Amino acid sequence: MYAVTNPATGETVREYQSATDDEIEFALETLHNGYKADRQSTPSERAGALLKAAELLRDKSAELAGVITREMGKRNSDAVNEVEIVAQIFEYYGSKGPDMLQEQPIEDSDQDDVVQYRPTGVILGVMPWNYPMYQLARLIAPNLVLGNTLLIKPASSTPESAYALADVLAEAGLGSDVVQILLIDAGHIGGVVRDPRISGVSLTGSEAAGASVASIAGEQLKKVVLELGGSDPLIVLDEENIEDIADLAVRTRMENMGQACNSPKRFIVMEEAYAPFVAAAKRILETDYEPGDPQDPATTLAPLSSASAVEAISEHVDRAVAQGATLVTGGKRLDRPGNYYAPTLLTDVAPSSDAYHEELFGPVVVVHSVNSDEEAIEVANDSPYGLGGAVFGGDPERAEAVGEGLEVGMVSINMPGGTAAELPFGGVKRSGNGRELGRLGITEFANQRLFRR
Ligand code: NAP
Repeated sequence: MYAVTNPATGETVREYQSATDDEIEFALETLHNGYKADRQSTPSERAGALLKAAELLRDKSAELAGVITREMGKRNSDAVNEVEIVAQIFEYYGSKGPDMLQEQPIEDSDQDDVVQYRPTGVILGVMPWNYPMYQLARLIAPNLVLGNTLLIKPASSTPESAYALADVLAEAGLGSDVVQILLIDAGHIGGVVRDPRISGVSLTGSEAAGASVASIAGEQLKKVVLELGGSDPLIVLDEENIEDIADLAVRTRMENMGQACNSPKRFIVMEEAYAPFVAAAKRILETDYEPGDPQDPATTLAPLSSASAVEAISEHVDRAVAQGATLVTGGKRLDRPGNYYAPTLLTDVAPSSDAYHEELFGPVVVVHSVNSDEEAIEVANDSPYGLGGAVFGGDPERAEAVGEGLEVGMVSINMPGGTAAELPFGGVKRSGNGRELGRLGITEFANQRLFRR
């Protein structure tokens, strides 16, 4: 069952029936035929519609952002930013995609041998709720230029964002023959993965969902891209500009109310800077976040996406405290309707506690103290995850050396991690495999075909 529940009020706005077997069959057949037809056109011919989509997304930004905020609760300004980056992704692949897909000569060969990039078929995308349009765009835009077609299963709490995006794409000429949203029950995904018309699967979400889908795809020998959880470290090496760094670090953590895979979830701070960092973080969390209606531009503390998201973060924080962590601020639900949780700061999270290793998906800042660069790297890498990591320090060479030591897919020096259409996104370890966005994102589901003349 798919249902839209307003996170600010708890009110169920609308329920949707899950897709039937017949609907799934019809979508697969339509998209498979769409793929066969698409193969007759070139990336340049396909790219124009993406540019048109980018234009329409910007025209309809306010309306689209309203849909995102209503169903997953993020601040409206965050939703507007999400729609803008979605537009940028379509613009990027619409303008640069055809060039990225030019055949590449094999330099080591003395003959006219090239690698060509060709589509492989219908790609299944299983999507989360936290960025209910951006996550879809990362998969849809590059694959449409490549010539693949896409069957998208949105999260069960965010069907309307997916439908709204698909409506814009249809208006731009990217209709149901090339991309479809289908409300498939998670329990029926295995059958879809097994269908011979599906040539690859991309899942963004939890480790459990990733492992389940990947194991079925593995049995079927199908390509999988997994964009899973993260517990990104943000390392602070010295006291220089500590107030500004704390401000930037905490604000980055609080984007999307902490419900971002690449949010900096562990602040690892050198002893000399630890006390001022914790003091600044506490002050910002206690004074700068006022709960309110997320559609109101003045609101700074939005609800979490669902009642279960609040329960999960509450349970994590309570367990961390029971296992010895110090609760510096927050640590409770707010006494008002909706899924509001107080901005929270934890210190003294010991390696023996669950919170040291788990992903905390909400407005919770964890600060660790370390005594050397080596220890900072060791603590940063002492995680099952390896998505991103950031290092701040007055000496850029030293910061880069620490960054070099991180076992992650994305490192940022003297800036927080982020995302942009041209930057490849993805992780190692239990954060998944494969890359989305940038040049790497367009070839994940390509047939990289050797062609000899
Ligand atoms: P989730 O519960 O795993 O759900 C993600 C998607 O997988 C949903 O569409 C869900 O369907 C589906 N799903 C769940 N179990 C499944 C199964 N056994 N078989 C097939 N499909 C299944 O994750 P979430 O709570 O929405 O998202 C939060 C997680 O995503 C966090 O860990 C976050 O870090 C991660 N994330 C990673 C990235 C990245 O790029 N690395 C980006 C964003 C989020 P239903 O909704 O119908 O259950």
